[in-house]
Amino acid sequence: MEHKDDVKYAAEIMPGGTPLPAGWKVVAKEPFAVSGPCPSCFGNAYGPLIKDFDDGEPDRELTREIYAECSCGFSHGGDGATSCGRSWIVTLQSPDAETRVNDG
Ligand SMILES: [Zn+2]
Ligand SMILES: [Zn+2]
Repeated sequence: MEHKDDVKYAAEIMPGGTPLPAGWKVVAKEPFAVSGPCPSCFGNAYGPLIKDFDDGEPDRELTREIYAECSCGFSHGGDGATSCGRSWIVTLQSPDAETRVNDG
């Protein structure tokens, strides 16, 4: 997927449910992290775990919310910026929560 250089820099949180481009995957377990293409500019993006809703009930679905942000390395016209500025929440639910990111 080609990086979109013409996306204008904007420090904004994208709305919940923003579809993720294909290619997102779990890249670390401890601490948990995901990585994949930015939904705005298709550059590399990364997200550490922020919330884990496993309450210990064996039958309950595990839900994870990861705060991800673009880290593509391009300025996108922003002063001193190193990404397009976008961030968003990635939500994973079991069984995918452990190993795989839904491609939206
Ligand atoms: Zn981006
Ligand atoms: Zn970018």
